[in-house]
Amino acid sequence: MTSVHCPPSLPKDFDPQAFWTLPPLLADADQRLQRLATDIATDLELLSYPSRTWDYSRHTDSLEVAIIGAGYVGKSAAFGLRRYGLSQVRIFDRCSPGQEGPWRTYARNATLRTPKDVTGGLDWGMPNLNFRRWCAACYGDEYWQQIRYIPRLLWADYLDWYGNILKLPIQYHTDIVDIHWQADEQCFWLQTMHKGMGEIQKARFIIFATGMDCAGGQYVPAIVQTSLPADCYHHTMDTIDFVAMAGQRVGIIGGGASAFDNGIMALQAGAESVDIMIRRPQLPNLNRIRWSEWNGYHRHFIDLPDGMKWAYSLAELRVGQLPPPHTYYQAITHPRLTLYTNAPVNQLNYQKGEVVGQYGELTLRHDVLICGTGFVTDLDAQPELKTLAPYIARWEDRYTPPPGDEHLAMARYPYLGKSLQFTPVSSDYAYLNRCYYLSSGAALLSGYRANLSGLQFALPRVTYDIGRQLFLDHQDEIWAAYNAYDIKEY
Ligand SMILES: Cc1cc2nc3c(=O)[nH]c(=O)nc-3n(C[C@H](O)[C@H](O)[C@H](O)COP(=O)(O)OP(=O)(O)OC[C@H]3O[C@@H](n4cnc5c(N)ncnc54)[C@H](O)[C@@H]3O)c2cc1C
Repeated sequence: MTSVHCPPSLPKDFDPQAFWTLPPLLADADQRLQRLATDIATDLELLSYPSRTWDYSRHTDSLEVAIIGAGYVGKSAAFGLRRYGLSQVRIFDRCSPGQEGPWRTYARNATLRTPKDVTGGLDWGMPNLNFRRWCAACYGDEYWQQIRYIPRLLWADYLDWYGNILKLPIQYHTDIVDIHWQADEQCFWLQTMHKGMGEIQKARFIIFATGMDCAGGQYVPAIVQTSLPADCYHHTMDTIDFVAMAGQRVGIIGGGASAFDNGIMALQAGAESVDIMIRRPQLPNLNRIRWSEWNGYHRHFIDLPDGMKWAYSLAELRVGQLPPPHTYYQAITHPRLTLYTNAPVNQLNYQKGEVVGQYGELTLRHDVLICGTGFVTDLDAQPELKTLAPYIARWEDRYTPPPGDEHLAMARYPYLGKSLQFTPVSSDYAYLNRCYYLSSGAALLSGYRANLSGLQFALPRVTYDIGRQLFLDHQDEIWAAYNAYDIKEY
């Protein structure tokens, strides 16, 4: 029976406005950032052993590693590779500087969804690179102590600073459109579009850090696409003119975090009402990601037998997505927002300028609809993988779930190795072991969900494996150099 969700009472001291308030920059922030930069330079010098690296690329004109995507995963991977002595590395991103990832585009959350101390291990063990140090330099450590969640725009600023302070090699405006293995050169050829010009980049290893929305992109239910004119609905990832929603009745399908974020934006813009409709009988209130934030789980999930990985992942999908508590409370306590449960979209019509929907047993009328229906995870739909995808092993190639536990989408997820590398459907495509997948499709089944919680455990596996393979590839040349070494100590 379709019903209206009754919110629990608000936690004490909950102030919805507080989440949207950005702190003032300290008057001496520039000098403090300068001091932090000096400290980081000292740290890097102190920790520089061994400072010598092997130039594995000396016989080829290819990069050691191409990283696709300059979000926090790509940036952290580049710094991690440098820590492992690999420097022929470049990050490619199709966007312009500052526009990496969702943070300044379609993310509409006031603060991160993860607690402030979950920062993905971007510091690689160097405290001065941690978000807290940057935040303290700009806004004071008292500010950091006060907050529970990092404001989204501060997070975006920190990521810019992180890339700049480490002088990460990022090539913007470069879209990787196709990739193939060039056997005679033993490297990948990445076909790129750079400022409208086609180019080839060569690399011996690839890290896919292409984010959550890369494999298949936004999911808009077929019933929406077939029943409504395109101008009366949006997806949460679209650029949306919220100002135009002032005075309008807004309907939102789906109850994940982005659905709530967009509801809050519409309310702030003066929407007359916001209705959120979800299929489930109740809004999920169990976030097992928070439970999973402990050393053993993130470090060793990938070591579990397949059956256990499948069971955990299925359980997580069955529990469903939910907004973080602060987002939920901000939205649900708003007098103009209603959450309907048991409200699947059964029918939609566009009548006299209104979206008329049958949600469960209820008919609701809206001026505009937003689909908070998430992403598709479909490797075959990831444009730059079109040549490689047919040879990448999937779970359905390696594992048969027990009856009743089948899941079509999960069965198509890539079957990754223990360093999050693709595994090939046959040994003819063994080069796929040189591609590491830290994007959406790896979520769940490999234990890395393309978020901050597990990144610090995933990336060291990747950087170690690349270093290992390069070393082994060059063992003859290294052995020769070892034998040729003739500098006498005395
Ligand atoms: C709205 C929203 C809020 C989130 N909030 C949180 C949170 O609070 N905590 C948390 O842990 N997680 C959160 N996540 C999940 C996750 O942390 C983010 O999606 C995060 O941005 C992932 O980082 P990333 O580096 O993997 O990818 P992204 O930040 O998405 O960066 C990927 C980059 O790859 C580039 N790219 C993709 N394909 C190509 C190509 N073929 N060629 C060139 N460039 C390409 C894109 O332009 C993009 O800049 C959130 C996700 C969303 C969507």
